[in-house]
Amino acid sequence: MAESKKGLGGITNRVLDILFPPNCIVCGKERFWCCQNCLDAIECVNRDPCARCGSLKFDHECKEIYSPLSTTYYLDGLVAMTFYHNPQFRRLLHGLKYKYATCLIPSVSQIMNRYKNQRLDPWPWAGESRLALQAVIGSPKRIRSRGFDQAELLRDLVKEEFLPWAETVSLLDRRPSIQAQADLKPGPLRNANVRGAFSLKDVGAAELPKRVVLVDDVFTSGATMFDAARALRSAGVEKVYGLVLAIGA
Ligand SMILES: [Zn+2]
Ligand SMILES: [Zn+2]
Repeated sequence: MAESKKGLGGITNRVLDILFPPNCIVCGKERFWCCQNCLDAIECVNRDPCARCGSLKFDHECKEIYSPLSTTYYLDGLVAMTFYHNPQFRRLLHGLKYKYATCLIPSVSQIMNRYKNQRLDPWPWAGESRLALQAVIGSPKRIRSRGFDQAELLRDLVKEEFLPWAETVSLLDRRPSIQAQADLKPGPLRNANVRGAFSLKDVGAAELPKRVVLVDDVFTSGATMFDAARALRSAGVEKVYGLVLAIGA
């Protein structure tokens, strides 16, 4: 993937950009897929959200109490790079999902790079010697209609930018969802829509990684990511971290 982006695929894209100059997906400025002004307007998150509810408040005391009997499984750490409410980011994400995925990869890489350079805190997984990167895969129908899965695309970018030493894994299956998550308001209905959506592929116990970082585009209610974490945990994964491009309702 990295090869094709930076190698032949990158050259083809550059040639196409010269022949058919793009317009910034946000502001329409010529010659850019996402211009520097619009990219600069996407600010980075400066602290890690609560791994149980996504709160970014400074003195947050979480009311989501973990209990072994609970059917909800939280994360062992959560990292979010930008804010979902940012209008420039929303346009960029929309483009990434629906139309111009490969053209916008350099813009997303730039955001990741800026986040990495600004981050001062240790990563939640600091000290882990082995990590596996798993995408929070989309529903089969969605992947078929788009021809790719943006969560897997982001997982590959995360590996390139943050965790080149981590192993990429494909442990999860996702059953078709009843309704697209984005169409449902956060709440019980949305949580019910994803509960049990993920199951583990048939991997031997010896091959099952003990520490997994789940990668997704956006964390809103957390329902999808928690459900993926539940599937991994119940199979024997000991720690599950989350890494998302953006956070917010
Ligand atoms: Zn622009
Ligand atoms: Zn919380």
